[in-house]
Amino acid sequence: MLNISDLDVRYGQFRAVQGVSLSIIKGETVSLIGANGAGKSTFLRAIAGALPCHQGRITFKDENITLSSASHRVQRGLALVPEGRRLFSDMTVEENLLLGKTTNRDGEWTLERIFETFPNLVKRRTAKAGNLSGGEQQATAIGRALMSNPELLILDEVSLGLSPLVVDQVYDSIEKLRQTGTTIVLVEQDLARAIAFSNRAVCMLEGRIVLDKPCAETNRDEITQAYFGLD
Ligand code: ATP
Repeated sequence: MLNISDLDVRYGQFRAVQGVSLSIIKGETVSLIGANGAGKSTFLRAIAGALPCHQGRITFKDENITLSSASHRVQRGLALVPEGRRLFSDMTVEENLLLGKTTNRDGEWTLERIFETFPNLVKRRTAKAGNLSGGEQQATAIGRALMSNPELLILDEVSLGLSPLVVDQVYDSIEKLRQTGTTIVLVEQDLARAIAFSNRAVCMLEGRIVLDKPCAETNRDEITQAYFGLD
């Protein structure tokens, strides 16, 4: 579904992503792991078209999208829930969700289905996003991405700043998406959760992929070593 080859993303002279290649198959759930500054967000933002690539190629559903706009990528079925959620705080939950409906892609996601999937949002439908709890904001951000009916959903740091109970709720809803066949790439700092939830673990260190394995064939120790760059 997604093929990335030899991708470089730079900030000025600094190579935040260095020659990364990765293929994602339809239906996979992939956890992207790595320390702060490893390059995960930069990599994901380049895939979504929010940052330009300096070198390399990104193919999505057999189309070369390396130079495509972010909106074209959404139109093709690739959606990113960015780190920090980036909601419009003065707009209501419903208005934020409707902003995600930027495409005419066919699919099952409607406002009503989003509220079924995230029942904690029902009572908050007309609340301003700025007044929501962290978990409600995350649910709204995921819901907004779903409004474009994505085939590949990329979630950057879904658990950040949420209490353990709320993290469980967010993961329950991501599990529902997975069951509908949505391909998922997510950044997860909790290694145990990453291994338990996904099919595949990909670890980045200093802009490179240093481990890429099915979760069934790796363990927390091996990922921790890759995470810290230990031999
Ligand atoms: P985190 O978990 O902290 O978000 P990350 O793995 O997502 O980390 P990135 O945010 O992609 O890492 O950052 C990768 C590197 O690029 C870091 O060294 C960071 O300081 C640098 N970087 C990120 N954004 C910028 C920017 N706008 N300008 C310059 N350097 C940047």
